[in-house]
Amino acid sequence: MIPVELIEKIHSLRKRAAFLEPDAAGRAVVRDRIVSYTEKFLEEIHLAKAFHETRDKGAGLLKSPVSPDPLDVEEVLRLFSENVDHPGLNPASGGHLAYIPGGGIYYSSLGDYMAAISNRYAGVFYASPGAVRMTNMMIDWMAGIVGYPSTAGGNLLSGGSLANLTAIVTARDAHGLKGKDYEKAVVYFTGQAHHCLDKAIRIAGLKECVRRRIPMDGQYRMNVDALRDQVQQDRREGLYPWLVIASAGTTDVGAIDPLDEIGDLCQENRIWFHIDGAYGAFFVLTEEGRAKLGGIEKSDSLVMDPHKGLFLPYGLGVLLVRDRDKLRDSFHYHANYMQDAVEVDDEISPAEVSPELTTHFRALRMWLPLKLCGTDAFVAGLDEKLLLARYFHEQIGKIPRFEVGPTPELSVVTYRYVPETGDPNRFNEALLKAVVRDGRVFLSSTMLDGKFTLRLAVLAFRSHLETIDLALQVLKEKVAELSA
Ligand SMILES: *Cc1c(COP(=O)(O)O)cnc(C)c1O
Repeated sequence: MIPVELIEKIHSLRKRAAFLEPDAAGRAVVRDRIVSYTEKFLEEIHLAKAFHETRDKGAGLLKSPVSPDPLDVEEVLRLFSENVDHPGLNPASGGHLAYIPGGGIYYSSLGDYMAAISNRYAGVFYASPGAVRMTNMMIDWMAGIVGYPSTAGGNLLSGGSLANLTAIVTARDAHGLKGKDYEKAVVYFTGQAHHCLDKAIRIAGLKECVRRRIPMDGQYRMNVDALRDQVQQDRREGLYPWLVIASAGTTDVGAIDPLDEIGDLCQENRIWFHIDGAYGAFFVLTEEGRAKLGGIEKSDSLVMDPHKGLFLPYGLGVLLVRDRDKLRDSFHYHANYMQDAVEVDDEISPAEVSPELTTHFRALRMWLPLKLCGTDAFVAGLDEKLLLARYFHEQIGKIPRFEVGPTPELSVVTYRYVPETGDPNRFNEALLKAVVRDGRVFLSSTMLDGKFTLRLAVLAFRSHLETIDLALQVLKEKVAELSA
């Protein structure tokens, strides 16, 4: 007996769902419109503002609610352009010189596109041996450039925050810390460590740990003598020095903690040495960065963000661990429904060393540009950023009444304007607001020793000499306007 009604129903559902699978002509209509939209975006990017202050802040999007009916691609693109691509920060602009700029190189977008089309399952070797090999190859490449031994492993996560969290959990388990130990376990970092580390400690259930903020030198680098004294004192008091977190490029000022000495100290004291290099670690690709980041290879774990230092679009932060077994100890899994996916040879499945199971096939967005451009282009881009920061530092120092911070260690410059009269903090706050409202370049600020300080961070791959000249010009104009 053929269940006629049932079969008819299935056919009719298939018809209704057919929008999910456009044919070649249908694909071309939407694809060509989207490609021409993105082409226009790229062609005009040098004219686009780095920041747009708008009144409704994208709220127009809500006027078109999700509905049972399809919408025309033109209308979809109009909604997107007006409400998403227009208001706020434009991170694709070279004029993004604030916080830590991101990237967005073109070939990565094509890698994402290809990954989404074939939707390879990159979490498990059995499912996609090629995707997993590519993932592990990217990890090995990064482990190689920082000088980790062949025991190293790692994981591709969504960003630096998740990578740091994964590192903290690994370090916790590697030291066998249990709930009853937390009150005595001590973490050491400086007041300049990224806030995501404090958050990670909290999320990892380690709120009760003792947190020591180690003093810094005049350039915001960890004072290793102070660290040593603190470790010894803690030991004497029966505490358990467990984790030192150093920064390889702080977000605030780009300072690099003395990695080499900290590495030795951690080794002597059997303390886990973690480095947050989300911003700065990729500078090891340059000769100058390599020298400044000496000792990075002594760490037990390291975070680096390809969506910052390798100019990739947002969505990729990396954790490397010197001993990959430690990572596996924390994140391995067993599930009956995964019993067919047994491990083959020595290729680790990413899901074995990650809190994630199913993820976007992230390696492709990195592998494709590396293969198509070669590493030399990335090295040159990074060297250019170092020199642009130095150029800005020199030029801003020549403008009367601008006070500059130290020569940038990497690509972050700090500076402030000192007005003839009035409160400098309020003046710089107003100056920053005026620059942001102008929008041609986007800068940010921080508080350093109670001083409202302006920052310029060069890491966007589209920032070039003319961008820096524009930033100088905008600053001069706004100072003149505010002083008038
Ligand atoms: C950006 C940054 C982070 C956080 O990384 P996300 O990718 O934004 O999650 C952590 N540490 C430093 C030093 C950073 O610059």
